[in-house]
Amino acid sequence: MSQPFLDISGITVKFGGLTAVNDLSFQVQRGSIHALIGPNGAGKSTTFNCISRYYQPNSGRIHLDGNDVSNHRPAQMPGLGVARTFQNLELFGELSVWENVLLGCHAHSANTLGKLLRRPDGETCDLVDSLIERVGLTHDRMTRARELDFGHQKLLEIARALALKPRLLLLDEPAAGLRNADIEHLDKLLTELSRRDGITVLLVEHVMQLVMSISDRITVMSFGQKLAEGTPQEIGQDPRVIEAYLGKGAARV
Ligand code: ADP
Ligand code: MG
Repeated sequence: MSQPFLDISGITVKFGGLTAVNDLSFQVQRGSIHALIGPNGAGKSTTFNCISRYYQPNSGRIHLDGNDVSNHRPAQMPGLGVARTFQNLELFGELSVWENVLLGCHAHSANTLGKLLRRPDGETCDLVDSLIERVGLTHDRMTRARELDFGHQKLLEIARALALKPRLLLLDEPAAGLRNADIEHLDKLLTELSRRDGITVLLVEHVMQLVMSISDRITVMSFGQKLAEGTPQEIGQDPRVIEAYLGKGAARV
């Protein structure tokens, strides 16, 4: 098998007496869609925060495209092509959809907000328009971010992350709060980002219909550890996974 794009090797994260992630290892193949699933509190978001370097694991290594990034600062990651969205959103509520995506285009640079929003060039404007169209928010392009419902704010976060032209896209519960039609849109979008654009996608998600449809591989976490890993078909039939989600005696995920 080729070198994984992302290699998580034995990471442990402790918060005081609580071990949130316990000796976790998994690999994400280049250009694939990989889902990280598991019950609430399993350690999924904490793992994401380690990859984007917001948290420093107590032990373990993280390699990106063959390079050890275990001691990188969060601000270095966008430059390496790592873009993320947050479980609880990090948008500029008073700015429009368009302006939020525009700011994503400049995430590498250390300019002031005012300077960033002034007169973008034509190429940047076209990029912003195309990203907004891609996530299906064209009709809301001038709407303030805080006026969108939660699901559409999540789509806006994806557009902003894509403005970075990422090689690795980390999505924390992108389908939370989305209606069925929007989930179908997200399904197509993520599949296209992986298959057409070659972007590696790692997502945390509870909407199993989406996870099962788009994932090449699924890693299941429970109590900070890896419980199972495999294709959607393998995971859907794994009794340990079914038990972790629904308790003993449960028949299906
Ligand atoms: P998940 O995303 O799978 O629901 P999290 O990674 O958010 O789980 O949390 C894993 C565990 O770590 C939970 O018990 C949570 O309460 C705890 N935890 C997460 N972040 C922190 C933090 N910053 N400080 C203390 N405990 C935390
Ligand atoms: Mg979480």
